[in-house]
Amino acid sequence: ILRLEQITKHFGNNKVVDALSLNIQEGEIFTLLGPSGCGKTTTLRQIAGLEQPDSGKIYFRDTLLVSPSEKINMPTHKRKMGMVFQSYAIWPHLNVFETVAYPLRARNVKNAEVKRRVMEILELVGLSGKEDRAGPALSGGQQQRVAVARALVYEPDILLLDEPFSNLDVKLREQMRVELKLLQRRIGVTVILVTHDQMEALSFSDRIAIMNQGKIEQLGTPKQLYERPQTVFARDFIGKNI
Ligand code: ATP
Repeated sequence: ILRLEQITKHFGNNKVVDALSLNIQEGEIFTLLGPSGCGKTTTLRQIAGLEQPDSGKIYFRDTLLVSPSEKINMPTHKRKMGMVFQSYAIWPHLNVFETVAYPLRARNVKNAEVKRRVMEILELVGLSGKEDRAGPALSGGQQQRVAVARALVYEPDILLLDEPFSNLDVKLREQMRVELKLLQRRIGVTVILVTHDQMEALSFSDRIAIMNQGKIEQLGTPKQLYERPQTVFARDFIGKNI
């Protein structure tokens, strides 16, 4: 569904993403796993269109989204991607309904359709009946569900998750992972997750790419990475705390 070819990105002299190539399959949960500063977030932001690579290409199905050498860069709002970040960016002045409705209102979707889609997605994430709650009155888990609902309400083809569980305590984190995976299997959206937590990656993903200094160190299923790490870095990173 998404193909990255030889993506390179510098910040000043710092090469953050180094000729990275990736093929993401339709309907899978794909995780970029690696230590802080290895370029995971920058890679995700380039997929979302929040950052432009210096060189390389990104394809969505057969459409070229990004190619700096050809001056092609599809704007974020035209890419069919939903995003959830570490801080959920729940707006204090909007209630749950309006927060989730926002991406639809921004696209001038008619009121009746907004209502139908918001109610449907709130039901899916288990927030029916909470439409009128204000953002700050929600628990951490509920705020995360709102952020997921807002990311999914426009029916994106790809859901981008950047450390979405890191603000939650350990127990809730586990519960939200299970819930989100069930939801993903139900609606079939392709997920790209960024995390530094190897246990999270191993339990949540269909495939994992271990990143180190802007490159992919090893790519495989959780089982392959866990049983047969191919480099010292991969072994140490996956093996940590196990
Ligand atoms: P983390 O989990 O800490 O966010 P990461 O693997 O996601 O780590 P990135 O956020 O992609 O890493 O950052 C990679 C490197 O690029 C870091 O050294 C970071 O300081 C640098 N960097 C990221 N964004 C910018 C920016 N806008 N300007 C300058 N340097 C940046």
